[in-house]
Amino acid sequence: TTPSASAADPAAGAAVKAADRAHVFHSWSAQGLIDPLPIAGAEGSYFWDYDGNRYLDFSSQLVNTNIGHQHPKVVAAIQEQAAKLCTIAPGFAVDVRSEAARLVAERTPGDLDKIFFTNGGAEAVENAVRMARLHTGRAKVLSAYRSYHGATATAINLTGDPRRWPSDTASAGVIHFWGPFLYRSAFHAENEQQECERALAHLEQTIAFEGPQSIAAIILETVPGTAGIMVPPAGYLAGVREICDRHGIVFILDEVMAGFGRTGHWFAADHFGVTPDLLTFAKGVNSGYVPLGGVAISAEIAATFDQRPYPGGLTYSGHPLACASAVATMNAMAEERIVENAADIGERVIGPALREIAERHPSVGEVRGLGVFWALDLVKNKETREPLVPYNAAGAANAPMAEFAAACKRGGLWPFVNMNRTHVVPACTVTEAEAKEGLAALDEALTAADAHT
Ligand code: PMP
Repeated sequence: TTPSASAADPAAGAAVKAADRAHVFHSWSAQGLIDPLPIAGAEGSYFWDYDGNRYLDFSSQLVNTNIGHQHPKVVAAIQEQAAKLCTIAPGFAVDVRSEAARLVAERTPGDLDKIFFTNGGAEAVENAVRMARLHTGRAKVLSAYRSYHGATATAINLTGDPRRWPSDTASAGVIHFWGPFLYRSAFHAENEQQECERALAHLEQTIAFEGPQSIAAIILETVPGTAGIMVPPAGYLAGVREICDRHGIVFILDEVMAGFGRTGHWFAADHFGVTPDLLTFAKGVNSGYVPLGGVAISAEIAATFDQRPYPGGLTYSGHPLACASAVATMNAMAEERIVENAADIGERVIGPALREIAERHPSVGEVRGLGVFWALDLVKNKETREPLVPYNAAGAANAPMAEFAAACKRGGLWPFVNMNRTHVVPACTVTEAEAKEGLAALDEALTAADAHT
C-alpha cells in the first residue's frame, strides 16, 4: 500500500481538492488563503498524496496517532464492532464501553477509577471543569499562560496563548498565571530549582489574592504541548498538588496530548509521581481512529455524584465504535510494547540527535522533551534568545518558519510547526530507522532557518 510512481494520480488529487474547496470550511484558517494537500492514504509512520509524494509523519496528525496510521488490529476491531453494534445511547451498559473504561482506569494513576467518555479533548476539559465546580461549589478556575485546552467555550478561555484572543469572552472566573519555563522565565530564574520555587510562590500569591475559597480548580497540561513542550522542573507538580490539597482546590491534569505513551509512560503524570483529582484524555487513547476523549475521575469526586445526578452528557458518550477502537489500541500498545518503544527511541535516538543538531545550527536555541514529545525553540540569536519570528507572527513576518516548513516537506518530512517552534512528535511506534530518516531531513531543513539568524 506504499505509493509508487504508477500509483500517482494527480488528476484525482485535483478533483479531491476542488471538492474540498467547494464546501469544506476548515479549522483555524482564512478560507480563501488555504491550499489543503489532498491525501491518498497512510500507513504506520507515513502518509502520501496523489502526486506520488510520501511524507514521514513527524506531526502524528496533531500529536494524535500514537499507534501510527492504519494499525491492522485497530482497523479490524472497528470493522467487527460496526458489524455488531454501531451505536447505542450512553445510558445502556455495553461490553466495549465498560472494557474501554476498565483499561483506561487501570492505566491512569492513583484512584482515577471512573471514566466519563466524551468525543474529544475540549469536551473532556468542559466536563472536568463542571465536575470541579459542582464538587467544590466554587466558580473560579486557574490555568497557565502558554497552554492549550481546546476550542469550545470554556476550554478556549482557559487556553493561555493567542489562540484564545479572538474568542475571549473573559469567561467568568478564568484566571491565568505563569507556569515554570526556565528558557523564557517569567521569574528571571537562573536554574530549574529557582524556577520551580518562584513559580510555586507566584501560584500561592495568585491564590491568596483571588481568594482560595472562590477557586474550584487549577488546570495544567502535565507537560504543556502545543505551547512548546516545557517539561516542568522536578517538584513543581508535587508542589501544585500540595497547594491544591491545602486549599481544597481540585487539581486537573490535561493529558489530552501528553497521555497514552507520548512521553514514554502511559501518562506524563507517571514521570512526576503525581495523581490529579481529574485527568482529561483524548488523542492517543485510540489514536483518533474514531473521535474519543474523556475524564478520569477520583473516588472522592465520583462520590459527589453518587446520590445526586451529574448534570451533563453527550449523545455519543462512550460510542461503541470509538470504545472498540480504544480497547484494541490499548491492548495492542501493551502487546507490542509501544510505550516502551517511545521511551527507548526518545532517550536513545531522538534526544541525543536533537542535542547534537542544536550544537551545529545557529537557529536552534533550545531542545526540550521526553519520549516522542520534543520541541526545538528556534531563535534569531542564541545569546539573546530572540525568537526566530515575533510572537504570534502572521504573513510575511512568519516567512522564516514558513520557509523552514516548506524545506521539511521538500525533504519528505511532515513537521509540526507552531510559532517559532518545530515539534518532533512521531508515532510512538516509530522505528529507529524512521526516526533517523526524519532527523536527517530535519537537520537539512534547518539550514533554511539558519539563514534568518
Ligand atoms: N488539551 C490539550 C492539551 C490539547 O493538546 C488539545 C488538542 N490539541 C485539547 C485539549 C483539545 O482537544 P480537541 O481538539 O480534541 O478538542
